[in-house]
Amino acid sequence: MKRGSRPELLWGFGLNNNEAGKIEDSLGPGFFLRNFSERSLPSEKELSNQEKPAATWIPQRVWDELPEARREAYRNLESTQRILIQDEKKNNVDLESVLEDGFLAVISSPLTSTKVQDALFRAKEISGLYGDLYRMTEEIIMERELLSRKTEHLMFLNTLLSNATERLEVADILGQAAEDLKLLLPVLSVQGAFWNVLETGRHVETEIYLNPGLLGEVQSEWTELMIENIVALSGMDVLGYNISETVNVSDRQMVYSPNAGRVLALPLVSRGDKFGCLVMLCDKNIRLAKDQVSTLNAAVNHLSLALNNALMFTKIKTRADRDGLTRVFNRRSFDERLVEEFKRHQRLNTDLSLLMIDLDHFKNINDTYGHLAGDMVLERVARLFESTFRSTDFIARYGGEEFVILLPHTKEADAEMLAERVRVKIEKTNMPYQDKNIKVTASIGVSSVRPGSLEKDVEILRKADDALYNAKEQGRNRVMVSPMRPQLKIM
Ligand code: GH3
Ligand code: MG
Ligand code: MG
Repeated sequence: MKRGSRPELLWGFGLNNNEAGKIEDSLGPGFFLRNFSERSLPSEKELSNQEKPAATWIPQRVWDELPEARREAYRNLESTQRILIQDEKKNNVDLESVLEDGFLAVISSPLTSTKVQDALFRAKEISGLYGDLYRMTEEIIMERELLSRKTEHLMFLNTLLSNATERLEVADILGQAAEDLKLLLPVLSVQGAFWNVLETGRHVETEIYLNPGLLGEVQSEWTELMIENIVALSGMDVLGYNISETVNVSDRQMVYSPNAGRVLALPLVSRGDKFGCLVMLCDKNIRLAKDQVSTLNAAVNHLSLALNNALMFTKIKTRADRDGLTRVFNRRSFDERLVEEFKRHQRLNTDLSLLMIDLDHFKNINDTYGHLAGDMVLERVARLFESTFRSTDFIARYGGEEFVILLPHTKEADAEMLAERVRVKIEKTNMPYQDKNIKVTASIGVSSVRPGSLEKDVEILRKADDALYNAKEQGRNRVMVSPMRPQLKIM
């Protein structure tokens, strides 16, 4: 025994004096044997609360006499290494059943010092091995849990990535991501914003994508929150923004205010540049484990890539559909849309109107102020159209300084009124250019097809063109309706 250290505890269950004495003598003062008498063996419960022994010595006769329930209780006692003392008379113990009973060593009578020391040594060694095995098993179980979590995360990333790359539109990708992210986190809703840095280098213009169906107050709460995040993440001021809607993928459409949970805003990065952010509304009590955070980061990287591609796709598409200078639709897309709208008008028996707008004496503007001034006027007029007409109306640059506007579901009289309104707007608009103030007027031809009309699509175009020609003939800066009627004038 080392000086100062306490003797190691041993238990005996019903040892006779001879056995107890032999064990004590063989092991010396480093051990203290506590022998429970055969008649008053402690219950499992009593033992559980006591100091655990290095080993428990049990004679075979005592073990065999125990009722099965007691034996079972002792078997379940953890960390009591049991050594069976075989009876002198019974030479052959059934080793298998001894092991099943959880004995770590068997020792035959009569006891000798060598046998006792050897048995204790083996019991301790085996118990050490058991301990190692137990720890290893625990480690393996933990590894397996970790692995299955990793597999889950990989499957989530796989779903998210393939869904995102399958889609070409930003609104679709965001809508689907809201569904897919639920596999990883308790996500309530997902919104996004994308920005372009303006020439000043200090401002951005942005496109904000909010969930569909947000009304009044809730929509402005979200818009404000999005702008706050854009400013924080881009480090610039927001000069202009446009609101679009994400596509709702799930059947249940829930509308959440930003206060309904905790908001997580993550930057979207492409080639080292932040170009947008993903704003997720999550359950209030959300707590992210370390591995969830890294999976979420990987997910956002994937989404960045897909969203950046989608934005590029939209840009290219816009380039093909739109006029480069004014960014309204070009003539080719107008021709396509006219055919479509005409079919709809015939199928659904609806009204359809067309405005053909030509700027008056535009050549003079170019001649007086230069071509760049002319370009600026064309852009300004296009913006004016956008702010006057509904989003379902179709604005296109037909050529030079001539625009066409298709008005579905619009009667002739209403089209005429709209034409007059926009004519007045153009006339009244001051267009500052350098230190000058340019003014311009427009002549407008209006034509319409009534529900059930048998006219062809080229007819409506020809009639508007005729009406426009008439407006020019009559002195410009006026609206004419085909067939020619006196104009209605509002001031
Ligand atoms: P009107 O009242 O009869 O329509 O007279 P106008 O001068 O507007 O008509 P005209 O057809 O004689 O001239 C159109 C001018 O529009 C000529 C052309 O140089 C100019 N134009 C066409 N496309 C552009 C453009 O993209 N930028 C600029 N700056 N000018 C353009
Ligand atoms: Mg003109
Ligand atoms: Mg012209």
